[in-house]
Amino acid sequence: MQQLNAKNQQVFIGNGARHRTGLHVDALGAKRALILSVPGQSDLALDIAGHLGRSAAGVYSRAVMHTPVEVTRHALDHLTSVEADCLVSVGGGSTTGLGKALALRTDLPHIVIPTTYAGSECTPILGQTEDGVKTTVSDSTVLPEVVLYDPELITALPAALSVASGFNALAHAVEALYARDRDEDSTQLAMTSIEAFAHSLPAVVKDPHDLEARAATMKGAWAAGTVLGSVGMALHHKLCHTLGGSFDLPHAQTHAVVLPHAAAFNEVEVADQLAPVAGVFGGGGAGRALWRFAGALDAPRALAGLGLEESDLDRAADLAVQNPYWNPRPIERGAIRELLQNAWRGSEPPAPGAH
Ligand code: NAD
Repeated sequence: MQQLNAKNQQVFIGNGARHRTGLHVDALGAKRALILSVPGQSDLALDIAGHLGRSAAGVYSRAVMHTPVEVTRHALDHLTSVEADCLVSVGGGSTTGLGKALALRTDLPHIVIPTTYAGSECTPILGQTEDGVKTTVSDSTVLPEVVLYDPELITALPAALSVASGFNALAHAVEALYARDRDEDSTQLAMTSIEAFAHSLPAVVKDPHDLEARAATMKGAWAAGTVLGSVGMALHHKLCHTLGGSFDLPHAQTHAVVLPHAAAFNEVEVADQLAPVAGVFGGGGAGRALWRFAGALDAPRALAGLGLEESDLDRAADLAVQNPYWNPRPIERGAIRELLQNAWRGSEPPAPGAH
């Protein structure tokens, strides 16, 4: 078992790490852990509960995407009724989101056992939805105390979802390279993540049960999640939040489609910061190199394939330029509309300098 050098969290990675959950529940001074999951991963939650034995207060398997507050309220009632004193989230960003929402309301300690590469387990950020509107809170009580990365668990994530989720992590790392508040540490973490996915995601696709490649990509997810929690994100994340929030597109797949286009758009202003991305993925500009990497791994490359209608593109462009995040290249509607058109069609992004 390896302990990673994380600030304000204890992070471990190793095969079978999930079996250490009980040790950490004890170390946190807790006696009754509530295990959380999405409905599709309830067996896994029950398995963790079985290992915890008397330290398990129960299982709550109704987590869903985008952390709706009505689910959180229901889970909070359950948590109170079983007198839980600790939270254990086992799953992807949707489950971790519920755990964070409960931690924010109760200040209970939170252990996360991630099974995707989303990286939410390493951030103090919680996105939650009420009446169809998603808002974000950043609060130190939201940062989980313990993260247990177990490569054996992520082998069940199918290749296609692994690739999409890997692009979700890569998106955090790529945007960290040109973040306004970046520093040497964040840049180094971002490059650690980018190199991990560049080298090991193809091996995961070839053999989803390759534990070495899974461990390398999980480390990449940790590095990406950590930079996501420490520097500000820009245009790419704004576009994905708009497309996910207003058009209900799937989270990880949307990141996979948009990232090459957002990188190509920003490359015009920050070619130096993005040059290492082009280098790692085979040259020809960061946007185009990421687009080729996506193609080689059969990642989704067109928003049309995710269910977005061409007639939605005008509204998507209008929404994406409202309350824009800081971005290294000024955001103007015409250029964003063109970017979205390319991403919708699945065309290759423009060559560097062709804008
Ligand atoms: P998810 O948690 O919804 O999981 C996607 C699907 O994969 C689910 O159907 C799940 O059952 C399945 N799955 C997960 N792990 C599996 C495994 N190992 N084997 C088989 N199936 C598995 O998706 P996600 O992409 O991990 O998370 C998306 C959510 O996380 C979004 O709501 C997003 O906003 C949030 N997020 C938050 C942050 C943050 O810092 N706050 C960061 C990243 C993502």
